[in-house]
Amino acid sequence: MPRYDFRCRSCGATFELRRPMAQANDPAVCPQGHQDTVKLLSTVAVTGGAAAAPQAPAGGGGGCCGGGCCG
Ligand SMILES: [Zn+2]
Repeated sequence: MPRYDFRCRSCGATFELRRPMAQANDPAVCPQGHQDTVKLLSTVAVTGGAAAAPQAPAGGGGGCCGGGCCG
C-alpha cells in the first residue's frame, strides 16, 4: 500500500499515512487532531513514470532492430 506524507499547517508536524491510492486525496487528520493538513509529494515512486518499468515495450518482438544494431 502506498505511503503518503502529510504536513499539518496548524502545528507544522509532518506525518505519513498508508492508505489505498483511491483515498490518496482524502483529507488526513494530524496526529494532534488538526484537520488543516496538506499532502506532500511522495518520495516513493508509487506512481512510476520517472524510472522505466522493467516491462517489454509495446510492439516489441523485433530481433536485431530492437537493439539498434541494424543502423
Ligand atoms: Zn497538527
